[in-house]
Amino acid sequence: MHCPFCSATDTKVIDSRLVADGHQVRRRRECMECHERFTTFEGAELVMPRVIKQDGTRQPFDEEKLRGGMLRAVEKRPVSMDEIEQALSKIKSLLRATGEREVKSEMIGNFMMEQLMAMDKVAYIRFASVYRAFEDVSQFGEAIAKLQK
Ligand SMILES: [Zn+2]
Repeated sequence: MHCPFCSATDTKVIDSRLVADGHQVRRRRECMECHERFTTFEGAELVMPRVIKQDGTRQPFDEEKLRGGMLRAVEKRPVSMDEIEQALSKIKSLLRATGEREVKSEMIGNFMMEQLMAMDKVAYIRFASVYRAFEDVSQFGEAIAKLQK
């Protein structure tokens, strides 16, 4: 692994631990050349189903997009990066567990809402209000009522 600061090839692992429910390894590395420290995440690359969009077009599964949506939803909320990574790997294993080669984008949205609901209610409302584009206030009220249960 090349050092991202000086591109030296000699870097040393100084700490290694499992994160995201054991689905990832987080490694702290130190460059032997410039002594900068940096972090890498390592996870198994497994084939994800492709995504069927609402208009019928297909797209490759995009984890970054999912992470971006989640980060926007939890902005300024007491949710840690670890929790987010954990939620993302949960969503991915749920998708793989379908055994389908293609899944509707709707399904991913629903998994995402379930994860957010469990993590942070405000984040859930934020995401749901954008994702579902609530047609009227009563729908929004329903979502809130569901939360209060
Ligand atoms: Zn370096």
